[in-house]
Amino acid sequence: MVRFPAVAPIVFSVVVLLGLQFTVSSSSLAEINQDSTKSAAARNLKQGQEHPHEVHCSRERSRAARQIIEEYLMPFVKREKFQMSSLCKLHPDNDMFRDQEEHKIHVDINEWRCGYCKKSFRAEKFLDQHFDNRHYNLLNVSHNKCLADLCGALHCDFVINLKSQKTKCNPAAAARNRHLCESLADGCFPVNQGLSASQLHELFLHQFCDAHTCSEKKRPFPRGGLKQPNILYLATSILTLMLLPVLYLIVYLHRRDMRGKQELKRITKRTKPS
Ligand SMILES: [Zn+2]
Repeated sequence: MVRFPAVAPIVFSVVVLLGLQFTVSSSSLAEINQDSTKSAAARNLKQGQEHPHEVHCSRERSRAARQIIEEYLMPFVKREKFQMSSLCKLHPDNDMFRDQEEHKIHVDINEWRCGYCKKSFRAEKFLDQHFDNRHYNLLNVSHNKCLADLCGALHCDFVINLKSQKTKCNPAAAARNRHLCESLADGCFPVNQGLSASQLHELFLHQFCDAHTCSEKKRPFPRGGLKQPNILYLATSILTLMLLPVLYLIVYLHRRDMRGKQELKRITKRTKPS
């Protein structure tokens, strides 16, 4: 009985402290919960805005794949006059975004127009969003026609991040991409379909598949592709065009000079007494 009054304040303060801590922790827990709910809501909203119609195929990566096919494969296919089967995954019909991409009208540097409804946008990405929102029904999503799925085989990352090529090579990923690449070669250019097909099969392996290795440093597209007019090429062309008349003038003057000398010789010969 004597000790109780001395202990009571201590017990009381411990109870108060514990209660306080519980309140703080439960309120912070509530805050965390609220935060996570908020961020989840924001994420859902963002996802809703980005993918209003749930297309599991990247438009950007599909575009990269399309450009690679156009630049590094089609010139050779056209040269061989080879008709790719629509069963080949690289065939234009197997690109769900192709129709939309073909309905992009690049009017000016800051003007992109929708080929379906003629609405104008100041950047390509806004036109892409417009396609996603307004012309979703025109996407062919019925079959597995996502060109971006072939990106591993076609080196899309190499083309997209041309300036920052510092990712470490992953042997498992390289083997997977090589397998996909070889199956594309077999599916699109069956070696039993004649000379053109087997030549294109070999070209495809060399152009796309050989670089899927970690053991040696190999760059994709060693056979090159469609020549893009670059600044150096333009400068050389202009310089050549400017120098060509000068060259003609020099040749003309030289020949006139020679003719003059010959004429002079003939005259002097004729005038000499025999
Ligand atoms: Zn439109």
